[in-house]
Amino acid sequence: MLKNFYDADHEAYRDSVRQFLRRVVAPNYEQWENGKLVDRTAWKDAGANGMLGLAIAGEHGGGDVEDYRFRMVFAEEAAAEGYTSFAAGLSVHDDVVAPYLIDLATDEQKARWLPGMAAGTTIGAIAMTEPGTGSDLQGIQTSAVSDDAGGWVINGQKTFITNGIHADLVIVVVRTDKNPSAGSRAFTLMVVERDAPGFSRGRKLNKVGLAAQDTAELSFEDVHVASSNVLGEVGMGMIYLMQRLPRERVSIAVSALTSCEAALRWTLDYAHERTAFGKRIGDFQATRFALAEMETEVEVTRAYIEKAVLSLNDGALTAVEASKAKWWASELQQRVTTRCLQVFGGYGYMREYPIARAYQDARVQTIYGGTTEIMKELIGRDQASRYRT
Ligand SMILES: Cc1cc2nc3c(=O)[nH]c(=O)nc-3n(C[C@H](O)[C@H](O)[C@H](O)COP(=O)(O)OP(=O)(O)OC[C@H]3O[C@@H](n4cnc5c(N)ncnc54)[C@H](O)[C@@H]3O)c2cc1C
Repeated sequence: MLKNFYDADHEAYRDSVRQFLRRVVAPNYEQWENGKLVDRTAWKDAGANGMLGLAIAGEHGGGDVEDYRFRMVFAEEAAAEGYTSFAAGLSVHDDVVAPYLIDLATDEQKARWLPGMAAGTTIGAIAMTEPGTGSDLQGIQTSAVSDDAGGWVINGQKTFITNGIHADLVIVVVRTDKNPSAGSRAFTLMVVERDAPGFSRGRKLNKVGLAAQDTAELSFEDVHVASSNVLGEVGMGMIYLMQRLPRERVSIAVSALTSCEAALRWTLDYAHERTAFGKRIGDFQATRFALAEMETEVEVTRAYIEKAVLSLNDGALTAVEASKAKWWASELQQRVTTRCLQVFGGYGYMREYPIARAYQDARVQTIYGGTTEIMKELIGRDQASRYRT
């Protein structure tokens, strides 16, 4: 079939991504995995080498490129080298946090935050989830109460926050209206910066996978936020989240697809080297069928995801389409990494083999960014809405 998704500019970018990964990530990855934290110098290197802030305007030091295919190139190359956890932290910064600032920040806020985001000197995080609520975002209890000086005072806890240890800038989803009748208008986005008094980080969480990346609990105790740190309009937080979650979901779908592709490539190579009973294991029909099925499923999935990415570029991707891409690709990733690991036998269970890490890193993909069940709920509700009388 035709392969015309990328052009020469994307391929040139691919070369610079490869060089960056080999020079900056390869020598340090194991150490980052052991420490569950990427060095801040690597973030700065990522910024200096055009790996961050692609969609940020040139005047703020960004790449001025909105085409998501460049981010997909990054995901492909990171997955191919087995560096998915490093890519996950960067993805939250670039695919999730940066778009909120680009779309909603005032000129003054952009000038304050975007240059650091593009340079990798300001690391971004977004804090929605709380110990008591994740899928049900309307259950958020972290509150912001207006003070006499026109600012706000935040109190509450967030958990599972990607980049939480390093974060210099956290977009915090807070409840600004306690009245139950406020519904989805009860929430606002506020930016809390690193040194805000009362803002503290809890444990670096000990995860099943995604080792080279920090995830943390965050705590807010009488944190004062000036009105100049409110993002967008008061009361619009939930609506902003709903508008931007499709992009986050596509980015997870892209990471799932590219991880499947990498796992399959490693497994094909291994199956055609390793022998048992005097044959290459790839020549047993059971292995052949498994590999054939996986290659088919992955290629068919790529067709949908490429379409989703082009639609995202055009501003035409719907929340329902993004949900389909997210649940399908992340569930496929579970099957593919499990089956690929099986082909590696005992070696597949050893962390020095990338398939072992890919298997561990895969598990969270059906959970964060909206669980598979929530994705199906959104799709199902849309279907039902077509039959409303
Ligand atoms: C590694 C990692 C990184 C994360 N990064 C971030 C981050 O940067 N920022 C952030 O805000 N959050 C982050 N999260 C949180 C993540 O988005 C939530 O864990 C996720 O949304 C699920 O919420 P929960 O854990 O509270 O599970 P719950 O909402 O309690 O769900 C538990 C189970 O119930 C099911 N369920 C819930 N409601 C329904 C329903 N209506 N119908 C059917 N089934 C249902 C779910 O599908 C799930 O299987 C991260 C999580 C992890 C693990």
